[in-house]
Amino acid sequence: MQTIPYGRQDISQADVDAVVEVLRSDFLTQGPAVPRFEAAVASHCGVSHALAVNSATSALHMACLSLGLGPGDWLWTSPVTFVASANCGLYCGAQVDFVDIDPRAYNICPGALADKLEQAERAGCLPKVLVAVHLCGQPCDMRAIKLLSQRYGFKIIEDASHAIGGKYLGVPIGSCQYSDITVFSFHPVKIITTAEGGMAVTNSAELAAKMSLLRSHGITRDPEQMTHESDGPWYYQQIDLGFNYRMTELQAALGVSQMERLSAYVARRHELADRYDELLAGLPVTTPWQHADGYSGLHLYVIRLQLDKINRSHRQVFESLRNAGIGVNLHYIPVHTQPYFQRMGFKPADFPRSMGYYREAISLPMFQALTDAQQDRVISALGKALVA
Ligand SMILES: *Cc1c(COP(=O)(O)O)cnc(C)c1O
Repeated sequence: MQTIPYGRQDISQADVDAVVEVLRSDFLTQGPAVPRFEAAVASHCGVSHALAVNSATSALHMACLSLGLGPGDWLWTSPVTFVASANCGLYCGAQVDFVDIDPRAYNICPGALADKLEQAERAGCLPKVLVAVHLCGQPCDMRAIKLLSQRYGFKIIEDASHAIGGKYLGVPIGSCQYSDITVFSFHPVKIITTAEGGMAVTNSAELAAKMSLLRSHGITRDPEQMTHESDGPWYYQQIDLGFNYRMTELQAALGVSQMERLSAYVARRHELADRYDELLAGLPVTTPWQHADGYSGLHLYVIRLQLDKINRSHRQVFESLRNAGIGVNLHYIPVHTQPYFQRMGFKPADFPRSMGYYREAISLPMFQALTDAQQDRVISALGKALVA
């Protein structure tokens, strides 16, 4: 029996045709497809600037640098995220700290954030940047976070790697109404894919210009940005230290084609989630709670085991599911418990709610092409795994 993965891309004939067309064209990189993809995402989000890059990790790095994050600064994020949400701060030479999660939403807890900010203000170590991760696609409490940012003067990056196609207070994630920059990932397990790929969006022309330089070696061909008049038509200047974070035309063409199905993808994920909610109702598991302010992109469907009601361990349930061909996963191992972060002095107990989540969470299969029959197989395997 084939294993049902927890996530997987959906590739149509239109996607294949779009990529092949680029292969036969004049440009494999730095052609028209990247701006087309950027325009499609910007228009979906209702945001002014979009920069496609080779991964969300690169987008997070550029976002932090463009906000001026550097040595002596602090970046704060949630422990329950992929390591990239924290590493971007370390790339810039800044220090990283975490804020524990909300027990229901599993996103950064606004109350814990407020408390920690109050202490940090007294200690003189307020963060410069907060990375708000929309875990599973569910938006963070951005209104509360924005209010705190106004009071304490930090910048906000939304890590919306899980959340494209979702909404917050009726407005698409990526509108940047509550943040400086929003970042998306297009890794194949995410909601839409470009194989590898990411994007940073912003309403700030200044931040967009900075990120545009950082994406391509710090090089400009814009006479306005140069220190002196151009030497000739060949001329460019390196005016900052940047990277090669560019997205290829092949990836962007795939992205444009996938964007056409974004709303259908998220709608299908909601159908699947509703069905899971219903079919899991009698089992000793906690299904995902959804805040009324948000419409989740539903990248992930995470259940928590009610361990006091079953005689099996988290690990036993997980292994039974894997053995039954259900490709469950765990999102995420709290970042502060990773050896690299332990060496900075973090202790597992520093963020108890994140640890509680980690002891019980399991991501069930959730992707566009998951069939009802496959979903029934997941439910039946889970039912057995909980009692076996
Ligand atoms: C996937 C992911 C990333 C990194 O995305 P890449 O495109 O693989 O670099 C960052 N943050 C979160 C929350 C993610 O899920």
